[in-house]
Amino acid sequence: MPQMTLFAIFAFALGAAVGSFLNVCIYRLPAGESVVSPPSRCPGCGSKIRPRDNVPVLSWLLLRGRCRACGGRISARYPLVELLNGLLTLALFLKFGPSLTFLVLFVFCSALVAITFIDLDHQIIPDVISLPGIAVGFACSFFLPWLGWKSSLIGIVAGGGSLLLVAWLYELFAKKEGMGGGDVKLLAMMGAFLGWRAVPFIIFASSLIGSIIGVTLMVVQRKDAKLAIPFGPFLALGAVLYIFFGKTIILWYLNLGAR
Ligand SMILES: [Zn+2]
Repeated sequence: MPQMTLFAIFAFALGAAVGSFLNVCIYRLPAGESVVSPPSRCPGCGSKIRPRDNVPVLSWLLLRGRCRACGGRISARYPLVELLNGLLTLALFLKFGPSLTFLVLFVFCSALVAITFIDLDHQIIPDVISLPGIAVGFACSFFLPWLGWKSSLIGIVAGGGSLLLVAWLYELFAKKEGMGGGDVKLLAMMGAFLGWRAVPFIIFASSLIGSIIGVTLMVVQRKDAKLAIPFGPFLALGAVLYIFFGKTIILWYLNLGAR
């Protein structure tokens, strides 16, 4: 097998294995529990999950989504999170190759996957991910020439500051709280990892996609505008779009204006 194919398989497996750990984070972090111990247990009967039943995606498929001990259903979300993180890691590897950029963005995207599902479940973005994330992103910027510490630092300030401004304006005009402080810290973390140029792109993309999905849900479910949709997942999607297509989309947009 060519070496790159082996690497690619390894990248997927690495992402899926970390996805398995993300599942633990998604379920335990909001409850304030440790993500290290105790080892994974069946949510139904509490029996310990054996290593061979804990292989990402495969074990769930082989056991047809049931616990080996009690036969209780195990949510399809576990393998889906593993698959998602595996594919995301594979895509990062194919785009950036074996590099420091790949490793850093792999850590960043894995954090985004955890944040997305925690925000969907609980409408919170845990500070224990976003605040260390800001520090880690800034630290990494010193070793990534395309990022650089200045762009990272401005990204933190611009990311945090611009959402604070949007939240403040929204409250001023709508007379209610629209955006959580968690979103502000998340965008600051994105600025730290991707630099200040990513910030306007992420705000624009996430607002656009968020409005489309929000309006669609309102029409489908016939709910009023008070429907609370967490914004974190859209910010995460915006950041991933920026990583893979940011340059292409920005160039396309600038070309439209130049015509
Ligand atoms: Zn069980």
